[in-house]
Amino acid sequence: MGDPLDERDIAADALGLVARAAGPYLDGLADRPVHDRARDALIDELDGPLPEEGHGSVESVERLLRVGTAAATHSSGPRFFHFVVGGSTPAAMAGDWTASLLDQAAGLWLTSPLAARVETVVLRWLRELFGLPASYGGVLTPSATFANVTGLAAARCWWAGRHGVDVTSQGLAGLPAMPVLSSGLVHVSTRKALQILGCGRDTLRTFARDDAGRVDLPAMEAALAALDGAPAVIVANLGDVNTGDSDPIADLADLAGRYGAWLHVDGAFGMFAALSPRTAHLARGVERADSVTADGHKWLNVPYESGFSFVRDPALLGAAFGGWGAAYLPDPDDERVNYNMLGPESSRRARALPIWATLRAYGRDGHRRMVERHLDVARHLGGLVEEAPDLELLAPVQLCVVCFRYRPPDVPEEDLDGLNARLGEALLADGRVYAGTTTYRGMTVFRPAPLNWRTTPADVELLLDVLRELAPKVR
Ligand SMILES: *Cc1c(COP(=O)(O)O)cnc(C)c1O
Repeated sequence: MGDPLDERDIAADALGLVARAAGPYLDGLADRPVHDRARDALIDELDGPLPEEGHGSVESVERLLRVGTAAATHSSGPRFFHFVVGGSTPAAMAGDWTASLLDQAAGLWLTSPLAARVETVVLRWLRELFGLPASYGGVLTPSATFANVTGLAAARCWWAGRHGVDVTSQGLAGLPAMPVLSSGLVHVSTRKALQILGCGRDTLRTFARDDAGRVDLPAMEAALAALDGAPAVIVANLGDVNTGDSDPIADLADLAGRYGAWLHVDGAFGMFAALSPRTAHLARGVERADSVTADGHKWLNVPYESGFSFVRDPALLGAAFGGWGAAYLPDPDDERVNYNMLGPESSRRARALPIWATLRAYGRDGHRRMVERHLDVARHLGGLVEEAPDLELLAPVQLCVVCFRYRPPDVPEEDLDGLNARLGEALLADGRVYAGTTTYRGMTVFRPAPLNWRTTPADVELLLDVLRELAPKVR
């Protein structure tokens, strides 16, 4: 029992358990709450001492499935609206299982031409989907945070090169701080990327003309002019997590062009605006960016972990991440692409497979329809909020985020933050619909983001019903 070799002839048995559990689990997602009240006690069943003698795969996976299907946060169901969390389409999930089944070492061509070729194919498909030039280089990453690290590492390479320094070899010592400019819409992961890269999270300067964080173009331009020709990096934000608002990408591309700056676009979920003629204008100018970030595990509805980085000058990815100098690794000039030379990871899974499966299964049109359905659902929710005397819409609904707060007419302004915070906690504890609060323009607000392929208008209507049901209990 305790040795995997003993299971050589029944290697698929535990997988069969997973496959048989999948149907009932997935079919139940539409009706069950986002979490089970007894989950902590259930999770206890996975705790305990490291077994000396193993229990075998079937018994162990049985337990994992029994606890997991009950105690997981059912965030791939249709009513998980907290943060910006996508689901997983049937094809993407099956593609992900295939990636696990095949267990490819997807860093090197040599270890998996399959993974390398499919990564090249999906990067091409994604560029087409987003309207990015075919000449851009790219690499799949675990997330948008890693894609921001990747794009900004390429930017750092370019920037140091402008100062006559090979940063891959020499590091940053002796260089000035890299100027990084953005609006108030910038996501925390951009700061995290800068901190990882040794550029310092607080070197980022934001230029905002209002408390919503919208960019102050003249102030940013004045700061660029004051650099007196020194190279700089502009971070443009396509889809912010509070309201779905975006920077004017084309204006920032113009600025970057005028001042010779690097333009990095963080379109973790906002990049999918490019899929619909209704929102494509928001993404205009991305095709002039030097580096672009997007996520697969958000609006593409591919399972975690899935992100993409695109860079205008493909050679910069190799310059930033290649050249390891190990004799057992291939020559960086090898024409057979080694994706671990183009991004921050070494060993990596074949994360192209679920992306391939969903793009093949539903095509450009299916993904456009999914995006438009979410635009409709978000607008529907925005409309209900706007009409309601006890709710206040705080920003126009532009993408898949609806920013609002509970505001019954008889509650004074100074009590609203506390009330909304308590309501947010009650909503998360209730679990029928999952949406928490954040701070926006100094107010405690809700910002549900419906972008799961299963979500329908009824799911967001339920959000308002549950809020109203819980509100009297927390007042
Ligand atoms: C979610 C998000 C990120 C970070 O993405 P992860 O995949 O969680 O690392 C970065 N930028 C924006 C705008 C996001 O919405």
